[in-house]
Amino acid sequence: MNGQTYQIVSRGRLAWLESQRLQKFPWLIHAFSTRQGGVSTAPCAGLNLGFTNSDRRERVEENRRRFFRQLGAGKFALAPLHQVHSSHSFVVNRDSANHLVYQIPGAEAFLPGAQDPPAGDGLMTCEPGVLLTIRTADCLPLLLVDARRRVVAAVHAGWRGALARIIEKAVGDMRRAFACDPRKLIAAVGPSIRACCYEVGQEVVEAFQGAFAEADGFFQPLRTKPEAATDRHSILFLSAYPPGHAPEHLPAARLDLTAVARHQLTAAGLKPANILIADYCTACRTDLFFSHRREGPATGRQVAVIAIRE
Ligand SMILES: [Zn+2]
Repeated sequence: MNGQTYQIVSRGRLAWLESQRLQKFPWLIHAFSTRQGGVSTAPCAGLNLGFTNSDRRERVEENRRRFFRQLGAGKFALAPLHQVHSSHSFVVNRDSANHLVYQIPGAEAFLPGAQDPPAGDGLMTCEPGVLLTIRTADCLPLLLVDARRRVVAAVHAGWRGALARIIEKAVGDMRRAFACDPRKLIAAVGPSIRACCYEVGQEVVEAFQGAFAEADGFFQPLRTKPEAATDRHSILFLSAYPPGHAPEHLPAARLDLTAVARHQLTAAGLKPANILIADYCTACRTDLFFSHRREGPATGRQVAVIAIRE
């Protein structure tokens, strides 16, 4: 139902996704990249925007140059981030020498050693000309906009970060650092692996059940064909695991990360009408996106980008 609120924009042989709601703000740049265009070759074929062992650094740099230039952000300062599946976000600012610096939201002090990308999974800024990016290849990328105060944020949420409530905390961090009103925030949730393809083990189900009273709404039953169900039973029988002690890698359910995101955003105070979920599964649409699950760890990365124009 939200699919039509996003549009694929094509320019210079590249293509990316924009939210039609966010397109209305002329001061804002935002995008969720696709793999179309770009100079990378298999197994990262297309517009790989993440430095990986399976792609050459100069190709990724060329892809980034092309993509950021097409977005009109070629001269912006890219704020790096070392993504670690945590619940931590940082405020990006400029110091008196015009260098990018990071702060813990609500704190005055700059982080020591800010020349190295800090370890965390969310970035926020009110500074024009600062490019916030999140790299994903199945995890959920999320952009947050406070149009009244002109504050923007980018958040990376896989199941571990979502379990640690990074999305809910990021909204709280925006409130703390910039006095953002959650009721005025708009959240754009980009392409990620969806419940159709995201089988997880019992340990993931139990971790969410232990952390969220609403966890049952985050999971869908496995899609078992009759013969597949028989297979699973026979494997369990043959391996003779006692009940409740099946190995962790056996799929137990399908996780809907968008349901987790929606829950955390509404819990943080966002209005349901301001939560815009792009209707794309990265694992179903490897023509458009890189998918770690579908293509393996050697695949490329897409990025979610947000910035305030200078
Ligand atoms: Zn899918």
